[in-house]
Amino acid sequence: MPVEFRFTCPLVNGIHARPASVLADVVRGYRARVTIARDGAAAVELVSVLSVVGLDIKVNQECVIVADGIDAVSAIAALTKFVEEKLASVDDVSDVGHAAGTEGSANLPMALRNRDVAFVSGRAVCGGIGMGAAVIVGGLALSDAALRATPVSVEAEVTKVRDAIAKTHAELHTRAKSAKGIAADLLRAHAAIADDPALRADIEKRISRATTAARAVVAAGEAFAGELRKATSAYIRDRAVDVIDVCEQILEKIGTLGGTTNVALENDSVVFAETLTANQLLKMDRSKLRGLVLGGIGATSHTVILARSFRIPTVIDVRNAVGLVAAGTRVIVDGEGGLVLTSPGDAARRYFEREIRSRERAAERVRVLAQGSATTIDDASIEVGVNASTPDEVRGATANGADGVGLLRTELLFLDRATAPSEEEQYSAYTGVVKAAAGRPVIIRTFDIGGDKPAAYLNMPEEENPFLGVRGLRLYEKHPDVLSAQLRAILRVALVGPVKIMAPMVSTPEEAVWFRERVEATRRQLAAEGVSTSSVPVGIMVEVPSVATVMDQLCEVVDFFSIGTNDLCQYWMAVDRGNAGVAGLYNARRPSFLRVLSQIVRGAKAGGRWIGMCGEMAGKRGNLPLLLGMGLDEISVAPGEVAAIKALVREARAEECRALLERACACRTPGDVDALVAASGWRETQAAAIVDRSLVMVESDATSKEEAIQEAIGVLLAAGRIERPRDVEDAVWAREATYSTGLGFGFAIPHCKSDAVTIPSLAVVKLTRGIEWGSLDGGAVSAVLLLVVPSSDAAGSHMKVFAKLARKLMHEDFRARLMGAASPEEVEACLRIELEIS
Ligand code: PEP
Ligand code: MG
Repeated sequence: MPVEFRFTCPLVNGIHARPASVLADVVRGYRARVTIARDGAAAVELVSVLSVVGLDIKVNQECVIVADGIDAVSAIAALTKFVEEKLASVDDVSDVGHAAGTEGSANLPMALRNRDVAFVSGRAVCGGIGMGAAVIVGGLALSDAALRATPVSVEAEVTKVRDAIAKTHAELHTRAKSAKGIAADLLRAHAAIADDPALRADIEKRISRATTAARAVVAAGEAFAGELRKATSAYIRDRAVDVIDVCEQILEKIGTLGGTTNVALENDSVVFAETLTANQLLKMDRSKLRGLVLGGIGATSHTVILARSFRIPTVIDVRNAVGLVAAGTRVIVDGEGGLVLTSPGDAARRYFEREIRSRERAAERVRVLAQGSATTIDDASIEVGVNASTPDEVRGATANGADGVGLLRTELLFLDRATAPSEEEQYSAYTGVVKAAAGRPVIIRTFDIGGDKPAAYLNMPEEENPFLGVRGLRLYEKHPDVLSAQLRAILRVALVGPVKIMAPMVSTPEEAVWFRERVEATRRQLAAEGVSTSSVPVGIMVEVPSVATVMDQLCEVVDFFSIGTNDLCQYWMAVDRGNAGVAGLYNARRPSFLRVLSQIVRGAKAGGRWIGMCGEMAGKRGNLPLLLGMGLDEISVAPGEVAAIKALVREARAEECRALLERACACRTPGDVDALVAASGWRETQAAAIVDRSLVMVESDATSKEEAIQEAIGVLLAAGRIERPRDVEDAVWAREATYSTGLGFGFAIPHCKSDAVTIPSLAVVKLTRGIEWGSLDGGAVSAVLLLVVPSSDAAGSHMKVFAKLARKLMHEDFRARLMGAASPEEVEACLRIELEIS
């Protein structure tokens, strides 16, 4: 009697080749015939990966698996176990569709816009800059001999193809065993395609109609790939190239493959292809592969996924990719701007070589900073998490050493729209983040609407004081469906990776109990629907002062806490966090506030609970000794700050920090606390000082204004002061367009404000040869002082440095001292003294 099992597809990208091959593996040992179907489509054999992929099963579609035969019950039991426990985590394509650079935009750097640079634009899917000789790769093709051949006999051709398939399958299996991660998964999926009964049957049927094995493989491969290309899901469409890939390998075994499967790279190379198979990429000598320029290949194709995991600068959607340049032409792939420079010329070559050098220096700095845990000299550890809203931010932060996501603000999904996001939309969004966190814990905060973040569809009444009104958790009782959809999505995502749920704006223990019950009720509801969930810690934000004195009671109700200092400070001091008129009172270093924070942390620790801090206070480097003194388990900070904060923790002593905090709590004013921290010798001011030796280059070979500006920006990038060099470059040039910053006397002081600047900084670049700048005195410039400030620097305090610098440069003795300073240390010392920077 047939036995059946129903489930809902949990995979964001549907059942594509990898999950399908794993499902096929589960049933392969059974004798029962096992089929799978989805609503409205005919059932197909589960062992045929291609047929299953062709079903185009999407996330949340209902599927039914039916087994019929002697061991049907055990086959279904094994499948049920697999689907419930493992299927959701098979799909590890978290970085699908996320470009590393500025996707889709042709972004010729400002410095090259007036040059004669030939380029084509495409879509950047993996960042970085690649330079090398063009290697052109064609598609699937038969050798001339194979094209002329006629079939020997049906039996002989069938034997030939069966042998080739068996060899391909065995070889892929062997390669999968010695590969790792995504490459191993891919090779296993390809092995399953090679072994696919539907593909084999189709090839043999074609042979029986009097064609050669080779032609049958090509025709069958094209037919299956053609079916996949018709799928509605872009992800499944991109799997067509996998079929072509496997067929190529079969043809190679028959000895009839034309074209180039094994692309031999002799020197630094950039490969141009219309579509490149993953197998071709895997077989290349990647130590020589500098870039990929591809045409009609999807951003979710395995080739692109692999390129990203190997960090090969890649541009796709390039029209006529194989006809752009002759083989051997020296080209540049700009994976940041999505450009291919087909005849770069000297200026472009120098520009990109300089960019490669600064990126390498920046990567090296981050590699060093991100290594290991944040542990003080006297062995106290603190987790450094990241506040984030998107997978890209999380990916960047984990590369910089983030230990987890300390606050996922989910409101972004809820704002600026007509209706609340569905459970599925949320499931997919959170899955992306959890996968980007790659096993690190993610604290997902349920929606914090209200206050300064309204959502029309929640029909919120006009309030006199929205920050004191129906905000955060206070909205949930009126909108049970919206809360339920979010909790369901989060509980389901808990199967993908470790997550915790956190409620905002809790002001009483009763609210915490109520929230926890909602989570439990949702779990029960999911269980009743057959959706298993793992246990998920439930915590609350500590951002309303009333909870500070009942931490003992809250410890009995929740698993963890995270202090939201942004709100806690505004409610503590009764100052609107967005009101400039009372901004003077809004200061997290007020001693009363430090006291309440210490009390909260002590309360959590006494109750044995984990406690972090995710408000802005946590991300300010100057506060670090105070926070270490409190004994927090975690601080969660902006993505760009993680590595630097970890490095600072390693320079601190917890014991000294505890003593410092105690003294800070005894202070009377925030100013006293500032003075105390400064007097403690805490090095944050030095690490983030506007002037620093790491921002000085005493010998640059830049030969033009463009190159000199780029050089100075590279210095800032390498020192971790800015994030997107091209944006900073644009901002500097926009300023230059209004007036020349060549002050005269051989100095130029270009400057800009940009949100790509993370720390106000003054870069100093001394040039080995004077260059034309359009200076006021018409003279050449031999020293460039580039001042950059974050857009958020509303007070303009750093522009005062600019004014002071401009005044100082009028004095000959200052100029002489600065030009006479021979090392970065001397330049730093000179500027510190003259500009009175402590
Ligand atoms: C906080 O209040 O400190 C916090 C992190 O939450 P938000 O800034 O989103 O209100
Ligand atoms: Mg808050």
